[in-house]
Amino acid sequence: MTVAPPREPGRFVCRFAPSPNGRLHLGHVFSAFVNHDAARRNAGTFLVRMEDIDAARCRPEFARAILDDLAFIGTPPDAPPRWQSAHMADYAEAIARLEAQGLLYPAFESRSEIAQAVADRTAAGAAPARDPDGTPLFPFARHSLSDAERARRRASGAPFVLRLDMAAALAAALAGGPLAWREAQGAPEGPLAMVPAVPAAWGDVILARRDVPTSYHLSVVVDDAAQAVTHVIRGQDLFQATAVHVLLQRLLGMPQPVYHHHRLVRDAAGAKLSKSAGAASLKALRAAGVTPAELRRQLGLQPTPTT
Ligand code: GLU
Repeated sequence: MTVAPPREPGRFVCRFAPSPNGRLHLGHVFSAFVNHDAARRNAGTFLVRMEDIDAARCRPEFARAILDDLAFIGTPPDAPPRWQSAHMADYAEAIARLEAQGLLYPAFESRSEIAQAVADRTAAGAAPARDPDGTPLFPFARHSLSDAERARRRASGAPFVLRLDMAAALAAALAGGPLAWREAQGAPEGPLAMVPAVPAAWGDVILARRDVPTSYHLSVVVDDAAQAVTHVIRGQDLFQATAVHVLLQRLLGMPQPVYHHHRLVRDAAGAKLSKSAGAASLKALRAAGVTPAELRRQLGLQPTPTT
């Protein structure tokens, strides 16, 4: 089923949200072009958000280089970027609201304990289900420890993460009706299809860590609301994660943007580009003399739209 896009006339706010833990590659360049072009076509606003909550991997020099690359390709932001690292209090406030609803619990299992439990269960023929990214679901449960014991361990200073109690979160959210999101078809301003959201596929996701009081899922939801984003335009690889985002929006009473998940740029072997796999950076392409127009052609995009 598709429906006509019901939106406030003249209001179109989208964002490009890189993590400054390396240089942009062609996949990011494609996403920046798709966002920026959509903003221009719809007389809208193109924002940039630096997803720099991972202080160990993000560096200001990468952020500066990303902004320089965006200027080079002709997609500079229409407003100063939002830096996630400057908004930890906003995330902490959202976490506190979810905790007050009884939807989070501190979990103390280390990565190696989790891996061991997954291995043991797999060996016993009871492998835990995997999330849409292929990672085994958290193999423990909130009720394996009493809330009082969890509170005691947390107060004692034991390392922990805060996990969403997915069953409780769904029970709370579904009281407001079925969960779904509007996915724009074919283009960011295309007709909308309702996509049923199945956040349970992700299990008890981590929403905060003791040292970093947030996570990708939580900060993306808080920031899209804070930046008044009307259209989240991003790669197909984040399609399934949207189920968690619309769940959190419902629980936090935040507006739900329209989503458009665009195609991914693949390498010659058909694999998704990634920094870790050493995808060619825009830095290297610039050093070799590439022009923005050549980049657009190579990515199968129309020449810069004139408005
Ligand atoms: N920071 C994410 C990434 O670089 C994008 C997040 C989003 O667009 O929601 O993949």
